Amino acid sequence: MNILIKNADIITCNASDDVLQGAFLGIKDGYIDFIDTKEDALKDFKADRIIDAKGKLVMPGLVNAHTHSGMTILRNFANDLALEDWLFGNVLPVEEKLTPEDIYWGTLLGIAEMIKSGTTTFADMYLHMEEVARAVSETGIRANLCRSPLKDSDKSVEDAVRCFEYFKKWDNSFNGRIKVYIEVHSVYLFDEPSLRMSAEVAKEINTGIHIHMQETLKECEDSNKKYGMSPAEICCKTGIFDVPVIAAHCVHLSDGDMGIIRDKGVNVIHNPTSNLKLGSGIAKVDDMLKNGINVALGTDGAASNNNLNMFEEMHLAALIHKGVHMDPTLIGASCALKMATVNGAKALGFGGEIGEISKGMKADLILIDMDKTHLCPVNDPVSAVVYSAQSSDVDTVIIDGNIVMENRELKTIDEEKVKFNVKEIAKRVLR
Ligand SMILES: [Zn+2]
Repeated sequence: MNILIKNADIITCNASDDVLQGAFLGIKDGYIDFIDTKEDALKDFKADRIIDAKGKLVMPGLVNAHTHSGMTILRNFANDLALEDWLFGNVLPVEEKLTPEDIYWGTLLGIAEMIKSGTTTFADMYLHMEEVARAVSETGIRANLCRSPLKDSDKSVEDAVRCFEYFKKWDNSFNGRIKVYIEVHSVYLFDEPSLRMSAEVAKEINTGIHIHMQETLKECEDSNKKYGMSPAEICCKTGIFDVPVIAAHCVHLSDGDMGIIRDKGVNVIHNPTSNLKLGSGIAKVDDMLKNGINVALGTDGAASNNNLNMFEEMHLAALIHKGVHMDPTLIGASCALKMATVNGAKALGFGGEIGEISKGMKADLILIDMDKTHLCPVNDPVSAVVYSAQSSDVDTVIIDGNIVMENRELKTIDEEKVKFNVKEIAKRVLR
């Protein structure tokens, strides 16, 4: 379908940070065909749909670079606990009861929430990933999915063959909307041989790895006891960092760890809400960016956030580092927005395809209704998005050239049915 968006104010997130006013944007076969402020540009363009964006702002769809979307089932369960007690004492025992069908419905709820809050791409690491892929394929969202090579809680890598099968079945499927990486949950749930084997599996199929990294001080201390080195050092030693890596958290990095992550081109995912809620600490994002490290943003799962709202993550990311360092010039609005768009696209292996609004990029974009009291007057669109906008201001969402939400109505998800099913699942597994 060819879509013409007219009268659009556009935040492009391109290299020159262009913000356009009253522009025309054409989408053809899923790609951005043209962007122009002159009406001449559309004379040869035959639109099947015309969207009048007057009063709305067009920007790239947000990239939630680290989440566990099926964890929506555990939303608002086990709060105000330290990570180890929260994870091992509360979350894992409930997760053992979750069936593949449960994960399907939980993931659909997560995807519905993400689309409604402007997220067009996410990176997911969770259980029963076959069902996650099914939910992604049906809803039209874009995702980086990963599968663990470990056989259940056993640390042997007998499941590697299932990683190959999962990769073969889903990677680059659905017009390239799905990308498949290998899951290495963390260095505390893996051991040295399984880290090595995971790196080998990723190299063999030429893909990347998604890992939780240096989230808490305890994780770093335990790693030193277990391996005699930090998580970043053991990952470097075992080959984990020889492939593209999505490293969630990186809250506690020594200067040495920061150097390894920079030199190895590891992508860091900053999850400010989750790190604050679990009392893990605050990542040195400003230092990472100054070191040239690619930093993206994520919500983490709904059990430690407790929503999947990237507007909140942008807002927090732009605020907390100013407060911690008593320096209001750190992580400006444009920087926070780029972490949630272009940097996220790059981190998830979709760099050059999505994350900015430029001719030739895939059409993943959102329209924000700016005719709101809390957005009046807009004055500076980028600051408005990061400091004033609410996720509920997202009006229309286009992914891969398809309209998946219009006037806040989801086109690919039966929201009421999904909410009903997830409430039933929560009743069963949380009692
Ligand atoms: Zn996580």
